[in-house]
Amino acid sequence: MRELPQLFDNNREWANRQTSISPEFFHELAKQQRPEYLWIGCADSRVPANEIIGLKPGGVFVHRNIANVVVHSDLNCLSVIEYAVRVLGVKHIIVCGHYGCGGVGAALADQPIGLIDNWLRHIRDVRQKHADELARLPDDAARVDRLCELNVLEQVKNVCHTSIVQQAWRDGQSLCVHGWIYGLSDGLLRDLGACITGPSELDVAYRLDPNQQTA
Ligand code: ZN
Repeated sequence: MRELPQLFDNNREWANRQTSISPEFFHELAKQQRPEYLWIGCADSRVPANEIIGLKPGGVFVHRNIANVVVHSDLNCLSVIEYAVRVLGVKHIIVCGHYGCGGVGAALADQPIGLIDNWLRHIRDVRQKHADELARLPDDAARVDRLCELNVLEQVKNVCHTSIVQQAWRDGQSLCVHGWIYGLSDGLLRDLGACITGPSELDVAYRLDPNQQTA
């Protein structure tokens, strides 16, 4: 007997539904993918990229990890960004966090958890950077939610600081990096107003373009 039969049943129903709507759906999809979007989001099971933005398979290239962190030495994430930008030619990179993120909450708490503390260190850096603002907020829930937003904005910058994105801009490729946040309690996305389209919008120290070394 198959393990987890319910999931296989669900899968057959889903595949049948897709082909009843569009008989060539899987045939066409198997030939190639050409998504316009790269989604970098949290691994939280309540934040499924395709469903939230209403896109079918093939519509969005996805990378998820705990608390949607982009680290300049993470080969996994860098490889995804490189493939998405250079091979697939995505036009938009969306960093999407979510309110009530457990990873962000852990980075605000003072209890050690284990290995993951090393990963969450990156968010503690964001916490430290904005310590004064966070201290002024009325309670821990407000602090978690604000740090969720600040973390997204920081990771947007980290995406833009990669050599991959900056090479794409130097090559004249149209590429916009966005910062969004998702509400678990209402299912809605909010745009955090970060939409970076070129190196002139970055701090000078991070510009990898000799023509963009002035403020
Ligand atoms: Zn999360």
